[in-house]
Amino acid sequence: MGLFWGIEQPHFYVNEGNISSVLPSNFLPRLDEEQCTGCESCIGSCHIYALSPGQNGEPLLDEEKCIGCGVCVSVCPSGALQLQRKKPLYEIPKDKKEQLRQIAAEKGKL
Ligand code: SF4
Ligand code: SF4
Repeated sequence: MGLFWGIEQPHFYVNEGNISSVLPSNFLPRLDEEQCTGCESCIGSCHIYALSPGQNGEPLLDEEKCIGCGVCVSVCPSGALQLQRKKPLYEIPKDKKEQLRQIAAEKGKL
C-alpha cells in the first residue's frame, strides 16, 4: 500500500503475461516527435509497461503489449501523443467480385 494525500492507496500489480482478459481497443498511441519534451510522464502512466524511454526520453511503443487504453495520451502535457485507429484487420469487399477475389487470396489461389 502507498500513501497519497495521507490516504493509503492499494498498489495494482499487473501480471505482464496475463492480460488476455483485457479486450484491446482498435487504437494505438502515435507520437509527434516535434512536440515531445521527453518528460517520460507517459511512460510512467502505462499500467502494462508497453512504453519504454528512447534516447531522449521519448516513448517507444511495444505494439504487441499496448491495449490502446489512451491513458498515456491523457497525461502528456504537450499533446505529443494522439490515439490513432489501427489498420483494419479485414477490408470489407465493395462487391461480390471483390469478395470472391479476397476469398481466393485467403485460400492461396491467387
Ligand atoms: S495506450 Fe494504454 S496500453 Fe497503450 S501505451 Fe498508452 S497507456 Fe500503455
Ligand atoms: S508525456 Fe508527452 S512530452 Fe512527455 S515523454 Fe511522453 S510523449 Fe513526450
